[in-house]
Amino acid sequence: MTATINLPRILRVGAGASSQLVETLRELEVSNPLLVTDPFMVEHGYAAALEQQLQAAHSPYGVFADAVPDPTTDSVTAALCVLRDGGHDAVVALGGGSSIDTAKAVAAMALREGPLREYKVPQVVDSGLPIIAVPTTAGTGSEATRVAVITDTGTQEKMLCMGLGLMPVAALVDYELTLSMPYRLTADTGIDSLCHALEAYVSRKSNSFTDSIALTAMRSIYQNIRIACAEPDNRSAREAMMLAATQGGIAFSNASVTLIHGMSRPIGALFHVPHGLSNAMLLPEITAWSVQESALRYAHSARVMGIAEASDRDAVALEKLVAGLRQLNIDLSVPSPRAYGIDEGRWFESLPLMAEQALASGSPANNPRIPDVVEIVELYQRVWNAA
Ligand code: NAD
Repeated sequence: MTATINLPRILRVGAGASSQLVETLRELEVSNPLLVTDPFMVEHGYAAALEQQLQAAHSPYGVFADAVPDPTTDSVTAALCVLRDGGHDAVVALGGGSSIDTAKAVAAMALREGPLREYKVPQVVDSGLPIIAVPTTAGTGSEATRVAVITDTGTQEKMLCMGLGLMPVAALVDYELTLSMPYRLTADTGIDSLCHALEAYVSRKSNSFTDSIALTAMRSIYQNIRIACAEPDNRSAREAMMLAATQGGIAFSNASVTLIHGMSRPIGALFHVPHGLSNAMLLPEITAWSVQESALRYAHSARVMGIAEASDRDAVALEKLVAGLRQLNIDLSVPSPRAYGIDEGRWFESLPLMAEQALASGSPANNPRIPDVVEIVELYQRVWNAA
């Protein structure tokens, strides 16, 4: 069976990569980009650092600095107006997954009519303006994926959009931009990356190209995430986490995510739990429910991460994997939905809708054990108070 792999055309990786914006734009023959970012990036000087490069090169550019966490169709529409008014020919995304996904949706909608919801999966977004991504979280891997996740302001559905038009043509992957991430953001975005790698490896759409990248990424994340959280200035841990996040993005974009991400999006959309944190809430229980259907792969993952010994039998490695993921959540102070403060009545009455939205995203069908709607509701019930 053949696998089709999509990647950014240019990846600049390492300390200082974000200072190479102008060279990158020249290579891509872009002359008037729109910088899409959020207020934090402006307040803390990250946007100014890119703007100074553009000014020094006398390049025209525009700025949209109102990207919101878990981007909405309303914020995409506002950015699209700025893009059209300024006649921009490309989009530079600076920030976490929210800024990058806003920029992706803007780049795609610049060439399209009608509401974004008409282009969610199973539709394919195959074209758009060039996107140059500069990630500042080590998490989503959006800088290297052909995916954008946008919440429909009208229905609160977290819509998945996919296609080559959403793949950045270039990514400047500079771990120095992540040194300012606080503990919670480091933990949540790091677990998001871990989920990408593990889900890609056990996905029914995994392939030998994504397998090696996913295994490398999960080992790196598991070995560095506690260090990056405890020692925010630890450059080698930050570097490892950033590289692994991009690798996790490449892995899942070419092999798909599975049940964890499928069930996570509705939690984010309905209860505004940060994306990485809702993945973290699900990771141990969904893994426990799935392991027997792909025992070899889950056991291998446990050994590669160092959760199990090389000599452990598969059954032992699987037990250690689930226990290790539960312990990781404890160490990183991941709350259950209940402890997070979600209203119990709203949680339980929303479960049928959440299960329906999870299934509709298509991600659960890539899981080693494929759930039906009743099983997804049961899993949400189980996760409610799981520590
Ligand atoms: P985010 O972009 O929502 O950022 C969260 C907060 O952290 C923001 O306030 C932001 O300003 C701040 N922040 C960003 N970088 C920082 C830094 N270096 N220091 C301090 N603060 C910083 O967070 P995220 O987890 O990167 O992105 C989540 C979004 O990405 C969700 O909408 C999720 O659905 C989406 N996502 C997309 C993909 C994809 O492939 N497109 C994959 C996974 C997740």
